[in-house]
Amino acid sequence: MDIQGIIALDKKYYMNTFGQRLPVAFEYGKQSTLYDKEGKAYTDFVSGIAVNVLGYGHPALVEAIVSQAQKLIHCSNLFYIETQAEAAKLLVENSCGDRVFFANSGAEANEGAIKLARKYFRDKGMNKYEIITAVNSFHGRTLAALAATGQEKYQKPFIPMPPGFKSVPFNDLKAVKNAITDNTCAIMLELIQGEGGVIEATHEYVKGVEQLCRETGILLILDEVQTGMGRTGKLFAYQHFDIQPDIITLAKGLGGGVPIGAIIAKENVASAFEPGSHGSTFGGNPLACAAAIAVITTLLNEGLIDRCAQMGQHFKQRLTCLKNKYSFIKDVRGKGLMLGMELDPSVSGKEIVNAALDQGYIINCAGHNTLRFLPPLVVTRQEIDGLIDTLDGIFKRIAEEA
Ligand code: PLP
Repeated sequence: MDIQGIIALDKKYYMNTFGQRLPVAFEYGKQSTLYDKEGKAYTDFVSGIAVNVLGYGHPALVEAIVSQAQKLIHCSNLFYIETQAEAAKLLVENSCGDRVFFANSGAEANEGAIKLARKYFRDKGMNKYEIITAVNSFHGRTLAALAATGQEKYQKPFIPMPPGFKSVPFNDLKAVKNAITDNTCAIMLELIQGEGGVIEATHEYVKGVEQLCRETGILLILDEVQTGMGRTGKLFAYQHFDIQPDIITLAKGLGGGVPIGAIIAKENVASAFEPGSHGSTFGGNPLACAAAIAVITTLLNEGLIDRCAQMGQHFKQRLTCLKNKYSFIKDVRGKGLMLGMELDPSVSGKEIVNAALDQGYIINCAGHNTLRFLPPLVVTRQEIDGLIDTLDGIFKRIAEEA
């Protein structure tokens, strides 16, 4: 089927939640490159929104999926599952957590984390249920995750939101302190707000929030759905800060493209989940966990996380050179291969995304008119330089037209 045929089917049969999609359908990918139906190549700087950390067709991931699919794709959580136990062990051995629960998406991992935090205090006989989150955060589209999301535009069409969530300005420790009540059970944060426009939490803020949690007994939940799995140059972004969260949520890169989410928690918190507290039909199934094992071991064994830090440094430096050249670039920020370039409101980020796509580069525009770059961690220096040259050309034209 050609692209026009696919678009016609989509328009007729698919719910229109994604509006006007970019008019391309991909057929296959290799490393950091995607190919459309006509064979045109696109270098991918979005990775399915921080999902395809190993790029496309990585032999370790493909082999793990194929070999698990030949044996057993799914079996219920009524039984013990070898790949689930092994994937949990890997996450625990490489984080500050002690136990894992597998879900199927980021929103679902966050829902589980919210339940876990409430149950932790309920078991102590305390009625603490309120979660403080940050303005401009993004935690997912299910109802509680949406209530945690500090962006009214996503919530408004679905009010009333589930009660028990309060969002306060990001990077404002005083605002967090003032929002704490006797009912507060957790503070839930992204360390880099991804969807909100690649906005980094400051060191003082993160350390201050951790200290607040330790002083008050409130739990610290870090949503590492986007920042996790090596994306920022460490396996988890919290490892940049010398802190120990009580709960971490993951998804996106964890399965390298196979849907899987996870909650990692400290033992004292994790033990609040008892038989019957939580569950999932698909969560942690043999296939998804085989993929997660392949992703984690490949990231660790092939030096991809250090490589991400190095490539990220080069990429950020080249983006900063563009910022010094064009006055409509307001800021360059981010860590590792999670980078953002904020543009003046007079320049359309969406038009730049379209122009880059025409020239064979996939980029994305997130909150605050910010171009967001999330390439696979296997991206090469040449690919980064290619994108920079392409952006330079697009920016030059914009500057001339202004
Ligand atoms: N949390 C963060 C930080 C995210 O960036 C996202 C998705 O963009 C989510 C949660 C929701 O994840 P999912 O779309 O897998 O439900």
